[in-house]
Amino acid sequence: MTDSEMSEFRIIQSFFYDLGASEGDAELTLGDDAAIVKVPKGARLCCSIDTVVEGVHFLPGTDPRHIATRALGSALSDLAAMGAQPSHFTLALTLPESKSQWLRAFASSLHEMACKYAVQLVGGDTTRGPLTVTIQVHGWLPRDKALQRDAARSGDVLVVSGHLGDAGAALRCLKGEIEGPQHHRDVLLRRFYSPEPRLALGRLLLDYANACIDISDGLLADAGHIAKASSLNVNINASRLPLSPALQHMFPEDGLDLAMNAGDDYELLFTMAESKLEALQRASDLPLSVIGRVGCAGQSVTVDGAEASRMSKGYQHFD
Ligand code: ADP
Ligand code: MG
Repeated sequence: MTDSEMSEFRIIQSFFYDLGASEGDAELTLGDDAAIVKVPKGARLCCSIDTVVEGVHFLPGTDPRHIATRALGSALSDLAAMGAQPSHFTLALTLPESKSQWLRAFASSLHEMACKYAVQLVGGDTTRGPLTVTIQVHGWLPRDKALQRDAARSGDVLVVSGHLGDAGAALRCLKGEIEGPQHHRDVLLRRFYSPEPRLALGRLLLDYANACIDISDGLLADAGHIAKASSLNVNINASRLPLSPALQHMFPEDGLDLAMNAGDDYELLFTMAESKLEALQRASDLPLSVIGRVGCAGQSVTVDGAEASRMSKGYQHFD
């Protein structure tokens, strides 16, 4: 295939049929006016949609493979935060031009990630315009369980998976603000480009956690969302934040600030009864760190007992 422009029909035919897991719940996928998906008995549908725009969510000229993994990874992370089992997704793609090389790289990376997380592409839309990728994910929740932001209880411990601040640190590296050893940069960049939705942990948490959210806006902002939704104060112990060796090495001064305020880590932040903690830690293969506690009625987030000095609202598009 040459790198001349392809028609919409050719794009869909060449790149988006048979994308992702093949043995799924879908009965009819691409090619008709809409997809048909079988809903497993006793399941509830859980869905979420996310858009990434060139120049807003990723730098112009970003490798299409990375755009695909960030878009699908962050969308699936929302299902992880609800405790849902992902099933399938749709893709709305807006392209300034239809170059086969770009599309091939984008679609093969999307395919690889969709197979990894057992989701199937069942439909979408293809239009011309500024580069924008919208992914809607669908998954299943049991009839009687879900992880919501409003379910924290007074006395719960506040727990986070993995490490915090790496993706924000990667962005600083990409902007050329910092030099450092390549192996540390690689760790940080991987965390930014290929977020790993914590799906297995999310499903496990259905039996352990009270409130849960994924960290997309930054720890302080997302802890604030739990506090507000649950009408309870939340206190964070700064010294407990899990910082990766790469972050500590590359950002000895700003590491803590990145972990508190930077977004895009896609770790799960949840609250639970302290008495269940040991059993959860045995059942999960991810590092889980207790970083604070849920207090009495209120809506504020404190750090070491003091009102968070740089209370981040997270990234707001219309500020
Ligand atoms: P319609 O005009 O009926 O909306 P389209 O011509 O937009 O249909 O799309 C034709 C088929 O290709 C549909 O099944 C649609 O879901 C699928 N499709 C279009 N674009 C994409 C895409 N980017 N990814 C996946 N499926 C797509
Ligand atoms: Mg139609």
